[in-house]
Amino acid sequence: MAPGGSTCKEVPESHSITADYDIATSNAEMKISPPIKATITYGGKPVTSSTNGVHELLECPVCMSSMYPPIHQCPNGHTLCSNCKIRVHNCCPTCRYELGNIRCLALEKVAESLELPCRYQSLGCHDIFPYYSKLKHEQHCRFRPYNCPYAGAECSVTGDIPFLVLHLKDDHKVDMHSGCTFNHRYVKSNPQEVENATWMLTVFNCFGRQFCLHFEAFQLGTAPVYMAFLRFMGDDNEAKKFSYSLEVGANGRKLTWQGVPRSIRDSHRKVRDSQDGLIIQRNLALFFSGGDRQELKLRVTGRIWKEE
Ligand SMILES: [Zn+2]
Ligand SMILES: [Zn+2]
Ligand SMILES: [Zn+2]
Ligand SMILES: [Zn+2]
Repeated sequence: MAPGGSTCKEVPESHSITADYDIATSNAEMKISPPIKATITYGGKPVTSSTNGVHELLECPVCMSSMYPPIHQCPNGHTLCSNCKIRVHNCCPTCRYELGNIRCLALEKVAESLELPCRYQSLGCHDIFPYYSKLKHEQHCRFRPYNCPYAGAECSVTGDIPFLVLHLKDDHKVDMHSGCTFNHRYVKSNPQEVENATWMLTVFNCFGRQFCLHFEAFQLGTAPVYMAFLRFMGDDNEAKKFSYSLEVGANGRKLTWQGVPRSIRDSHRKVRDSQDGLIIQRNLALFFSGGDRQELKLRVTGRIWKEE
């Protein structure tokens, strides 16, 4: 027994705890990341340690993520990250003694001297960063994997664009089309149902890149609406090089939208909520559908072009 220490009963399950850092340390991402080699700088010359010793010390033994200040330790010297410290109710997960409030300044200083490769090295990023700025870079690293753009179901698949295109086709059975113009019919037998669950996704192959055309019904405030918008399967700086137009209409009336595709880095939800697309009020949508207003039949035509 440590002097003055008391054992505690709660032992956290090491796998149920996740880090709260902005960067998601999802299993999918961890699988693609290679084992990271620690590079320690001695007198300005980086020396790569093959044992990974220092880097392992900086891994929280509870959640396995990299630790950032304040790094905590128990009276027996076991370290853990600040997120986990809150969750373990003042009880060291390793030896179960009372944690107290001891900071591990030595380890924080050691971390300062480390230089590590970006975690997306295997995906093409070859930059090396001081330990404390690595996380910030990784949040914006252009090689970081994309989230699956499929909406309507929580899909946690991540990867590069060619991988996600295959995933959409094989796992979500998404329609794939080639060409930069399209003419699409959306038919729904019960247009009174305007729930979040109503959506469709089509992928267009155009200029050698892929674009996601989303069509969905949702409640905008109290008004039921339909919305169509385009997302680009790539980063924002490239998305901006394209424009697109969408048209819907019937009986001599027509609604037109011209916009810039949004990167799939922006979630489907974010684009929808910013109303960055063609929005059709339900009344108008039913008018465009013709007939007895019992069925939604919309024809959406569109075009994608490159801005030079
Ligand atoms: Zn932790
Ligand atoms: Zn301990
Ligand atoms: Zn990077
Ligand atoms: Zn998916």
